[in-house]
Amino acid sequence: MANAYSDILKMIKDVEAAKTPGEEFVVDLNRYIQLSQPKYTPSRSIKPSSLGGCFREQWFMLQGADQDVGALADPGLIGMGQHGNDRHNHLQNACQDAKNYNIPIIWCDPEDEVKRAQSMGIHTVIKRRDGNELLCHNSDYNCNFKCDGIIIYKGIKYILEIKTEDYFKFISRIAPVDKHEFQAAMYCICFGIDRTMFLYEDRNYLVKKGFVSVVPETFRSEVDSRTKHILLYNGTNTVPPKEKGKCTYCRYKQRCKLLGDTVVNTIEELTVKKSKILLAERREAEKKNLEES
Ligand code: SF4
Repeated sequence: MANAYSDILKMIKDVEAAKTPGEEFVVDLNRYIQLSQPKYTPSRSIKPSSLGGCFREQWFMLQGADQDVGALADPGLIGMGQHGNDRHNHLQNACQDAKNYNIPIIWCDPEDEVKRAQSMGIHTVIKRRDGNELLCHNSDYNCNFKCDGIIIYKGIKYILEIKTEDYFKFISRIAPVDKHEFQAAMYCICFGIDRTMFLYEDRNYLVKKGFVSVVPETFRSEVDSRTKHILLYNGTNTVPPKEKGKCTYCRYKQRCKLLGDTVVNTIEELTVKKSKILLAERREAEKKNLEES
């Protein structure tokens, strides 16, 4: 509960530091923004947006671990998330409306796209519609995902992936980051589409940059092996090592600290471990059957 106390202490400090009604108003408004946030509990599935991130963080989600207690998100970060959602909506609506202005962007119905993927033998199903997006599940990868959209631009079909980012990242952007490529590759695999239209938007001036990325075979196999690796860590109850450069937005910092450092296990090592677990489970079941018969 240490962080719950530090939240209260911070609130008291903020209130004491506020000298004018304007400052007090900002403190109160920020407090409201923090307290009114709905609690987010991630599903116990692989998240494409985290696939290029820390294995241990994904492992916590798969295990259904409790998130950090008491640590309220920064009001600025909450606002950035809301701004990102708003911009996604506006840009998705623009892509849907473009054809009415004879602009060669066609918005594809995601439900039709799921049916098409299923006809290709891909095990993607719809869980629910959420505004412009569909929440889908792919059982091949135990993965839940919402992709920003699927478009046809000048006759070519793309996964649409929208990213908003701060000005300084944006001005030096010359290509999508690997983490985003992993995420998009997962969507491509789950929809049977081979390319992504990345749309990056600068959060300050709303300038945009577009990048086309064709999913290379190496990426597909990397997505396969990362997913397999994470699922094996989970299936053998083995704690993955820390990946310290990826902690900024992680909601499991307290649990991670408690578990301490661990070593890397290769896919081969975890596969052997998993076989032993399955064998032990089978023997236990046979023993129980014998005892009962
Ligand atoms: S705190 Fe950092 S190392 Fe630990 S799980 Fe989160 S991202 Fe990984």
